[in-house]
Amino acid sequence: MSAALRLVGVERHYRQGDARLDILRGADFTLASGEAVALTAPSGAGKSTLLHVAGLLERPDGGDVLVEGASTIAMSDEGRTALRRDAIGFVYQFHHLLPEFSARENIMLPQMIRGLDKKEAGKRADELLSYLGLGPRGSHRPAELSGGEQQRVAIARAVANAPLVLLADEPTGNLDPRTAEHVFETLMTLVRATGLAAIIATHNFDLASRMDRRITLNDGKIVELA
Ligand code: ADP
Ligand code: MG
Repeated sequence: MSAALRLVGVERHYRQGDARLDILRGADFTLASGEAVALTAPSGAGKSTLLHVAGLLERPDGGDVLVEGASTIAMSDEGRTALRRDAIGFVYQFHHLLPEFSARENIMLPQMIRGLDKKEAGKRADELLSYLGLGPRGSHRPAELSGGEQQRVAIARAVANAPLVLLADEPTGNLDPRTAEHVFETLMTLVRATGLAAIIATHNFDLASRMDRRITLNDGKIVELA
């Protein structure tokens, strides 16, 4: 079986005035299906950069990202966008839900962009809402939800198209400990139930210790932690 996601010799640099910041310097990593991996590293180490490159939101300056064994290096922007839409889900520290739409509509939108009709998308949204204990919240707009509910809706939206890979960038970083625990449980329940592969960036070592593996960034390379 091919890995859900592979990074091979990934390079990423940013320019800052005259200086060049080398954020990723030959990052190698393999993520298997069904596996939850914690990414912990100090602020500024390149966690978000790594997730953006892994999630095809940014192109690497060198190396390759393989999604289910398929190289993306030579893909057009359109090809990358389509692959991202079908295969990858994102959750951020802030929910980024569309404020003028209900929770249910927020979960429907990515499915409709992918070509599902309203009825099918609504059915899947209702299933996800109910599965995540958000059934009664479907008609609420994001501003009418608690922080934990907003994040759980964002998780439902991220998996609406049944991706292979979920990338979460400090998804509980903005939540109080009890809510963080609930949102983390939600994420892990989904990973376990669906065989989704996940990389979850977090500063919370307790949550990290409950994932399958832990990685960090050291000098632009991915290092496995004990
Ligand atoms: P982390 O998520 O671990 O806090 P980031 O990946 O956000 O780290 O950032 C890593 C480094 O790259 C930081 O020094 C940051 O300032 C820099 N950086 C991130 N994005 C850009 C960008 N678009 N342009 C220039 N520098 C950037
Ligand atoms: Mg970050």
